[in-house]
Amino acid sequence: MESISALFPALLTPKKIVITTHQKPDADAMGSSLSLSQYLSKKGHDVTVISPTNWAGWVNWMHGATSVLNYEKQTDQSNTVLDNADILFCLDFNAFHRTKFMADKLARLTCTKVLIDHHQEPDIASFHFGVSDTTKSSTCEMIYDFIKEAGDLSLIDLPISECIYAGLVGDTGSFRFASAHAGVHAIVADLKTRGLDHGKIHEGLYDNFLENRLRFIGHVLLHRMEIFYEYNTALIAIPKSDLLKFQIKTGDTEGLVNYPQSIQGIKMVALVIDRDEERKWSFRSKGSFDCNTFARTYFEGGGHFNAAGGRSSDSLDETVARFKEVIKTQPSLN
Ligand code: 5GP
Ligand code: MN
Repeated sequence: MESISALFPALLTPKKIVITTHQKPDADAMGSSLSLSQYLSKKGHDVTVISPTNWAGWVNWMHGATSVLNYEKQTDQSNTVLDNADILFCLDFNAFHRTKFMADKLARLTCTKVLIDHHQEPDIASFHFGVSDTTKSSTCEMIYDFIKEAGDLSLIDLPISECIYAGLVGDTGSFRFASAHAGVHAIVADLKTRGLDHGKIHEGLYDNFLENRLRFIGHVLLHRMEIFYEYNTALIAIPKSDLLKFQIKTGDTEGLVNYPQSIQGIKMVALVIDRDEERKWSFRSKGSFDCNTFARTYFEGGGHFNAAGGRSSDSLDETVARFKEVIKTQPSLN
């Protein structure tokens, strides 16, 4: 994988560009895709954003969100756009399998492939150009860097700054995590001077749910949360029946994994949701517990040191039982 700056000459003439991101895109995935899309369109390129799956309604306020193709629903149209692309940008994921049903298609494409990502262990052999930097707070920070490196900060208008800010907020836990380094705050200061109304973005991301979601959280914290004080660990396991009862949609479970972290002494939180096709795990930690390695070792996943995800084909009961066994073997949880 060559450095991202080596791509700049190719962008001097108009290109057909596809931008994609990980399945079930969150604020950083969607914010980075849409900010890059708007920037490249301003530079004269023909840009399409394709999401591997559907996404949460609370990113729909982002400029351009309603034009994003959903690969799962618009497969033929998406495949045609992909077949005609000169350049494919892959944002906020480290390997094609994170795009689910789109993975084989992306692997087979012969166009120029570019990676911009901040997850560990990127599959750099699959990309011609790119930047992979785990010290970056978010892919949105990296899009800001990309635009800056191209000498185009003046092209960052209000809609672009709103998308970038959304990813910064989302991936730093509202500037709480260690990843919110000084450079992140400097970017926010620059976006503010460009007119960003940061309160509006927080409302768009966090005050944009329906009543059922809050009642679901109440139910889950009361009935589905287990605390293992011996291992400083909290577990939330959500059966499919809860999702149906509370009419839970994509994005409604975002942030749920953070609640048990407010309990004194908790070093690790695990959340598992019984989805149709798999049991989907989320892991969060404070301090020295490495969620990335844990997810990779036991639950076919990965991510960052303090935030990772994984999956299992076992039943909910089976995968929960496995979790309860493996936490006993983790020295840094004692
Ligand atoms: P979340 O728990 O919010 O879904 O994901 C936390 C972090 O782990 C995110 O950075 C996400 O990209 C990553 N992640 C989530 N699920 C998986 C997975 O199945 N495999 C890998 N490699 N990373 C994941
Ligand atoms: Mn991210």
